[in-house]
Amino acid sequence: MVIACPVCGGACGSAWRRAVLDSRDSQTAHWIGRCAGAVPASLQPPAP
Ligand SMILES: [Zn+2]
Repeated sequence: MVIACPVCGGACGSAWRRAVLDSRDSQTAHWIGRCAGAVPASLQPPAP
């Protein structure tokens, strides 16, 4: 299963895929991907 980038709403065109985990963890969605566009400041790591 693949979804559009959840970071920017698919604006960057990057596709994320769902990590297949144990069934008991199905309530928690895990998506693997990277936003190819600008990263919101709130998600950027703090400057050193
Ligand atoms: Zn994106």
